[in-house]
Amino acid sequence: LDLRTPAALADAERWTAHNYHPLPVVITDAEGASVTDVDGHRYLDFLAGYSALNFGHRHPDLINAAHAQLDRLTLTSRAFVHDQFADFCRGLAELCGKDLVLPMNTGAEAVETGIKVARKWGYQVKGVPDGQAEIIVADGNFHGRTTTIISFSTDTDARDDFGPYTPGFRIVPYGDLAALAGAITPNTVAVLLEPIQGEAGVLVPPAGYFAGVRKLCDDSNVLFIADEIQSGLGRTGKTFAIEHEAVVPDMYLLGKALGGGIVPVSAVAANADVLGVLKPGEHGSTFGGNPLACAVGAAVVRLLETGEFQERSARLGARLHEGLNALVGKGVLAVRGRGLWAGVDIDPAMMTGRQAVERLAARGVLAKDTHGSTIRLAPPLVVTEEELDHAVAQLAAILV
Ligand code: PLP
Repeated sequence: LDLRTPAALADAERWTAHNYHPLPVVITDAEGASVTDVDGHRYLDFLAGYSALNFGHRHPDLINAAHAQLDRLTLTSRAFVHDQFADFCRGLAELCGKDLVLPMNTGAEAVETGIKVARKWGYQVKGVPDGQAEIIVADGNFHGRTTTIISFSTDTDARDDFGPYTPGFRIVPYGDLAALAGAITPNTVAVLLEPIQGEAGVLVPPAGYFAGVRKLCDDSNVLFIADEIQSGLGRTGKTFAIEHEAVVPDMYLLGKALGGGIVPVSAVAANADVLGVLKPGEHGSTFGGNPLACAVGAAVVRLLETGEFQERSARLGARLHEGLNALVGKGVLAVRGRGLWAGVDIDPAMMTGRQAVERLAARGVLAKDTHGSTIRLAPPLVVTEEELDHAVAQLAAILV
């Protein structure tokens, strides 16, 4: 047996900083919900690039849009306007029901942009004294890896030894309205929350929480910023996870699937009274809103406009959750999530989350653990019923 995986893994390990602990799989090809490794083994991808691959690997519409754009124009910088810009921004703004969008690249940049816009709005519109703006966030949050964002993380791995930290954030328990109400001051400019906390283990807050958040924000003239970078764009069975709560945020932060798994594309969407606070020269990005990103992003928006993927996620998600809930008491302690997104707590007496995903990989299903014995399942929304059932059967098989 002459497997190429060990050497390929050793090579990758030798030349990189060790800020990830990947599963021992070296992928070469992919299509739809499947990937193939250097040794020719096929796997079902039940991580989907942390939801960056909602439309599957190499969706033909997205690949065609990218190819066509590669043949014409890839970069101008925002010093000039290009012909793909307006189409993408209009489409995304309409999908969000907002006046304006501001394109960036990574999720963390969208979060940083949201923070900057909220602060400027606080000073210029709300009248908060200079330098006093406060933003309320939740414990267990994950919003990215920049120095400012990790300043309000409660994960010691993400935060420790990266100080000094950016001030201006208050942390309250996720899902606790009374705590949020108690944390709002006249200087609060925004509440920044994930509609479902992905990295924390796919935590869904109590019903009515976001309606309460919306009301508290309205009553205190505070912006509600929804970080839909992982939860949005079809993942939960709706375009935005916050729609399950029938709540409209002041600002959407989007990323991951917006780039179709091809290029990094992120964006902030908000109305003109909020995003309009930015004037020329005050914020920017060399690659943000580049022609290739806009061509792919516009194709992503077109896929979402049909509602087909949201419907698939809702329908197949019900099947996934039914299958997973049947494992509760059989090695699974709890299952959470919405649509094609599930956090599964494995009985820690049985195995760690890491052991669980290693055993799943050995059975041809790629997933990722989060904390302790929790694993998350988030297949591309193009996954078939048979593939779903197969993956759930593999999970059942490792739990005996
Ligand atoms: N916000 C949320 C909710 C996320 O899940 C992530 C990434 O996992 C980010 C922000 C950061 O995105 P990026 O890794 O593209 O910077």
